[in-house]
This record gives sequence, structure tokens and C-alpha cells, in this order.
Amino acid sequence: MANSDSLNIYREKRNFNRTVEPIGTFSEGTRENIFVIQKHSASTLHYDFRIEADGVLKSWAVPKGPSLNPKVKRLAVMTEDHPLDYAAFEGIIPEGEYGGGKVIVWDSGTYSNKSIKNGEELDINQALDKGHIIIELQGSKINGKFALIRTSGGSKSQWLLMKMKDTYDSAEDLTIKQPKSVISGLTIEELK
Ligand code: MN
Repeated sequence: MANSDSLNIYREKRNFNRTVEPIGTFSEGTRENIFVIQKHSASTLHYDFRIEADGVLKSWAVPKGPSLNPKVKRLAVMTEDHPLDYAAFEGIIPEGEYGGGKVIVWDSGTYSNKSIKNGEELDINQALDKGHIIIELQGSKINGKFALIRTSGGSKSQWLLMKMKDTYDSAEDLTIKQPKSVISGLTIEELK
């Protein structure tokens, strides 16, 4: 169910007279579901992993970023829904504002929902509710199947992000090998 109220928390946290982030126009969504991974140097450096669902970007903060190694599980803490137009946001959030620091678009693309639990196919909203998401990413850097599994509830619920076995498995750490923005070509340090 599309719900324009789902951006209220996002908007309440921010002063749009000061931040350069988008206020966010509510949208019925795009034809192909998008994902984005933003590298964000806030009080602690992290990666924000976001997938389109229900007209917004469902969002997780992943301190260590994604791994392509199926043996590695990465903590992913759910954060507030972001507007779809946030997927193109790259810039410097002023110090003192919520999330103050630099943001680059580290990767982006589209995803296919492959969620299934106990033999039952789940649409993406059901998968979010059940805390059991399987998606296949088609990005500039990251490709292949990932699972997001909820391990504890609450408003800042904890999940694990992990690569599933497929032909895109790799021991390479792309966050180190390919640190640059897919939009500007800049590293987060170079962003001005
Ligand atoms: Mn963030």
C-alpha cells in the first residue's frame, strides 16, 4: 500500500532551509525498481543501502558496506524511509544538521525481487514485513543475489546483509578497489 506518510520521519529529522538534501516528492515509483548504495561520512563512515518499495526508498545503514563474499554477514540497521529522488543525491550535508557530512553515490542500478520463504514467493512488501528479503542487484559495481534477514525488531531493527552464492561471488572488496562515485567519478574525500 503506497503511503505518503512514510516520509514524515525523514522530513521531521531535517531542516530543508539548511540541508541540501531533497525534500522528496512522493511518487508511485518507477517501472524498474531501483537500488542505491551511498557512502556517507557522517559521525561514523557507513554505507546507506536503499531499495525502492512502495514508492519510497527502504533504507539500511551498513557500517562496513556490502561484501561479495557469501561467508561474510554485514550488519545493516534499518533507518527511516527516504524519498525516491534521494537516489541521485550526492553532496555535503552541513555540519550540525542530521547526518552532517559528505555523501557520494557509490553504486546504483535496479533490482529484481526474488524473495521466497518456506516455498512461498513474497512480494517486496511481504518480504519487508517478514524480515526475509532476497533481491538480485543489477548495478554498475555490484551484481547478483543478496539476502537481507532481520535479526531483531524495533524502529531501528537490525538485519544482516549477505551475498548469496552465484556467479558474482568474489573475495574482492569493491569498497576498497572501486571507491569512486558512479555519478561524479569522485572519491568521498575529493567531493567539495
Ligand atoms: Mn547515512
